[in-house]
Amino acid sequence: MTATGLSQVTIRLTAIALAAFICLSCAREPPEIRYRFTAMGTLVEVTIYDFPTAAAEKAARDVETLFLKLQDAWDPWADGALAKLNSALAAGDEARPDEDLADLLSRASQISAATGGAFDPAVGQLVKLWGFHDAEALPDAPPPATRIQQVLDAGKPLPQIWDGERGILAGASGTAIDLGAFAKGEAVDRAIMLLRSAGVRDAIVNAGGDLRAIGRHGARPWKIGIREPRKTGILASIEVSGDESVFTSGDYERYFEYKGTRYHHILDPRTGYPTREIVSVTIIGSSAAESDAACTALMVAGLGHWPAVARALGIREVMVVDQDGIIQMSPQMRDRVTMLREEAPAVEIRDIS
Ligand code: ADP
Ligand code: MG
Repeated sequence: MTATGLSQVTIRLTAIALAAFICLSCAREPPEIRYRFTAMGTLVEVTIYDFPTAAAEKAARDVETLFLKLQDAWDPWADGALAKLNSALAAGDEARPDEDLADLLSRASQISAATGGAFDPAVGQLVKLWGFHDAEALPDAPPPATRIQQVLDAGKPLPQIWDGERGILAGASGTAIDLGAFAKGEAVDRAIMLLRSAGVRDAIVNAGGDLRAIGRHGARPWKIGIREPRKTGILASIEVSGDESVFTSGDYERYFEYKGTRYHHILDPRTGYPTREIVSVTIIGSSAAESDAACTALMVAGLGHWPAVARALGIREVMVVDQDGIIQMSPQMRDRVTMLREEAPAVEIRDIS
């Protein structure tokens, strides 16, 4: 055998050895797929771990179909089920939602009552007046104070107009329903249900940083990053295993500045203006829908009242960032969270129970 022949054999043997090595490590590392799409005005990412790839990809595509269907049904102003309901309300008619929407409205109405109206999907006209209903564009100035007052005077809170017994919304031509603070969470819950019925055990459905995680990532729990509200980077991380939702609401998601003031998309239904004191709220909860609504409610509740509203909703793990970057959290959250800021942040522990 020539020297060249020998080196060719060596190369071939090395290639076989390498292939064997790669295959062995393939066999040891279960597959993970990540599938991304845009729905409900946000980037949704489905991560499925340790499940046959083709079946995982099919399940993720089914989640996309589900999100797009719910996006149409629950858009307040397009032409789906909720938009039809809002048209009926505007015409002064009694509106009878389908079973699906009726269930959502019942749960939303209960949460609204429990939060003293801080969370109230009956803010539809207010959201529209501000211009935050349009996912494609942001307003450039706040509406006149007189218009805000008119909309507040004409509208009614959801628990006052939702008759769960008869399943109708009534007596509210000045009111429109906007499920923007609830629907994304509900869609995440339904996506998890879909994945489970396809046989998936370990997965995350993440809608723009709001997520529900089930199972684990193999030997380790899922690790969730919480972003800094006022700069780039990660503020903290939380480990999740089993079945939990991690949701954040913040004044940095959709906002504009006008004459030096920030105006954002979470409105205080009592004043008609964007909330002020809290920059972001992160909670750990069980259902994604309830966690979604809870975050919005705590933003509205503000620094003085968030512990009382969390208590009313049975939420124990809460982290709040205020305008000065100071962090408030419950003792239960302190036990779950790893702070990742370089300089140690000022943290105030506040009891909920
Ligand atoms: P994001 O969807 O950006 O995570 P939220 O879950 O807090 O934020 O939802 C904000 C959306 O909810 C707004 O765009 C609006 O449609 C609606 N909304 C605003 N204020 C309230 C409120 N006080 N109660 C219920 N829904 C609200
Ligand atoms: Mg919300």
